[in-house]
Amino acid sequence: MSAGALKPGATIGILGGGQLGRMLALAAARLGFHCHVYSPERDSCAFDVVRASTCAAYDDRAALAAFAEAVDVVTYEFENVPAQCAAFLAARRPVLPDPEVLETTQDRLSEKNFISKLKIATAPYASVHSATQLADAIEKIGLPAVLKTRRLGYDGKGQAKIARGADPNAAWRTLRHAPCILEGFVNFEREVSVVAARSRDGKVVCFDVTENEHRDHILKFSKVPAAVTPTIAWEARDIAQQIAKAFDYVGVLAVEMFVVRKGKRHTLLVNEIAPRVHNSGHWTIDGASVSQFEQHIRAVAGWPLGKPVRHGRVQMTNLIGAEIDGYAKWLNVPGVAVHLYGKKDARPGRKTGHVTRIFGA
Ligand code: AMP
Repeated sequence: MSAGALKPGATIGILGGGQLGRMLALAAARLGFHCHVYSPERDSCAFDVVRASTCAAYDDRAALAAFAEAVDVVTYEFENVPAQCAAFLAARRPVLPDPEVLETTQDRLSEKNFISKLKIATAPYASVHSATQLADAIEKIGLPAVLKTRRLGYDGKGQAKIARGADPNAAWRTLRHAPCILEGFVNFEREVSVVAARSRDGKVVCFDVTENEHRDHILKFSKVPAAVTPTIAWEARDIAQQIAKAFDYVGVLAVEMFVVRKGKRHTLLVNEIAPRVHNSGHWTIDGASVSQFEQHIRAVAGWPLGKPVRHGRVQMTNLIGAEIDGYAKWLNVPGVAVHLYGKKDARPGRKTGHVTRIFGA
């Protein structure tokens, strides 16, 4: 245990009330902690499973002060927590991971610069603030390329591909001329991620490299183990470890990467860092002896990390939008665990549940 480690019965404050907050709270409950979820959305599905909740805006200082007073540590389940909110809470309670991590990862340009400084490879990228810069970026990087807003993009939102011969300004217009980065389009062989946990005393434990398949830019399947060579698996975990260390990170983070084939060799390019538990780690709830959610709770509580053992080959399938209505068909499938998030509104593109199938060793 680290100095100041929380005892069972302590209260963990979670900013954000989506399914990640809900699964964090369920893992915390198993370890004897209470959770208090803070979310501006009345229908937050994490509210259903916690002892206390606050429904208020992220700039409501009175509500934030009362929340800080009621919890022993604050963590978050999404990366777009406003910087002022994180700073306000950090003046009153430990906030883990450190809010500085949010500042870096909320902005694709500062995130890519941070990764590059560590000498970790990414797709070629350039900052785009003006039409001239866009032309210069294309000159440097070439086409096809992907224009991404620096802030607030997720699940393919805030992105526009620019094909060879297409009008780049039209692509930028669709993003309302927001500050962007232009990234070279990567012809990847597969996408993988590493979910890593780092404890308060600096120990890092990575889950097995996970292979991810997207549909319409939204994660659809995660499979473990990923079909990569042992060398690539080692490199992927090493990259996640380096990033966690460089941030002096406490908690769980995910690093999304592209596997690129160059002749007979494979290399990795980092696409994105998520400073939180991640959809590609959901398989760990049923597929491993310790889940990503439990690792995160252990880390922020100052507990030692678990040493997860995987239960076999695992596939996680996201239920998206109205797919949740077909949940009954999964209930009798051998080796399947069903997770329904209890969301009121199954809008298209919204993650409404997932199922995990264990295939045995
Ligand atoms: P992101 O929001 O950056 O994680 O992107 C969402 C998805 O879009 C990724 O998981 C990839 O499937 C695809 N994508 C993003 N950036 C690139 C790129 N530079 N080249 C090719 N595909 C990309």
